[in-house]
Amino acid sequence: MPELPEVETVRRQLINLIRDETIARVEAPFPPIITHDLHWFQDTIKDQVIRDLDRKGKFLIFMLDRHAMIIHLRMEGRFHIKKDEPVLKHEHAIFHFASGRNLRYHDVRKFGRITLVEKDRVMHHPGIAALAPEPKHLDVNHFYRRLKHKRVAVKTALLDQRLVAGLGNIYVDETLFHAGIHPKRLTSSLTKKQVVRMVEHATHVLARAVELGGATIRSYQAITGVHGRFQNELAVHTKKDEPCPICQTPIIKIKVGGRGTYVCPKCQQ
Ligand SMILES: [Zn+2]
Repeated sequence: MPELPEVETVRRQLINLIRDETIARVEAPFPPIITHDLHWFQDTIKDQVIRDLDRKGKFLIFMLDRHAMIIHLRMEGRFHIKKDEPVLKHEHAIFHFASGRNLRYHDVRKFGRITLVEKDRVMHHPGIAALAPEPKHLDVNHFYRRLKHKRVAVKTALLDQRLVAGLGNIYVDETLFHAGIHPKRLTSSLTKKQVVRMVEHATHVLARAVELGGATIRSYQAITGVHGRFQNELAVHTKKDEPCPICQTPIIKIKVGGRGTYVCPKCQQ
């Protein structure tokens, strides 16, 4: 599943390919991908120009002339830029540009959804409105107080996008390892110092992953031909039975809130 660094990578690469393109028409071979009446969507988006591509959490926001098109890639969503190639089975929405090129939304699992809102209503989109700030924008005092009032495993809390946005399974495991905190530790028992450390490491892990184009694991590829390299720097995630990079103790895999979780049993007590 693409996480924040992968979505940011898509954003950075895609914007250079589509900025200033005019949408001439849209086809949707799998209409449920579009969360509106298809004819309304097609009429409304027609002739609008792609001015910019923003991101909030894992939502991509195509800024058009009057509207913003919001997409969450969910499990397997990805984009391809093509010309006259035949439409493939999993290409569920095709945005034809006036230039003759087209942007295709490809999604094997069909979980992604495309929504069009007026530009000034982006923050009212229910998914986006519920998002907490990303680690680098968190108010640590406020975050610490919210954690204090919860009695959940710290991993579960870090995955909760209403508490902190942008951390998925891979990046939570890495953050907690670097902060030396066990994923099952109750949030109410964390000290202020530990919360500060955790936020610092989360910020660093995400920034480094963005720098490396995200992580390509389990064959997720942001755009055709793009491979992230962050998987080469993973300390614990996917490293079961391999030595901890700090103390050489074999990494173990446990379940936390139903999610596969990698831990150094010595560094994260
Ligand atoms: Zn260790």
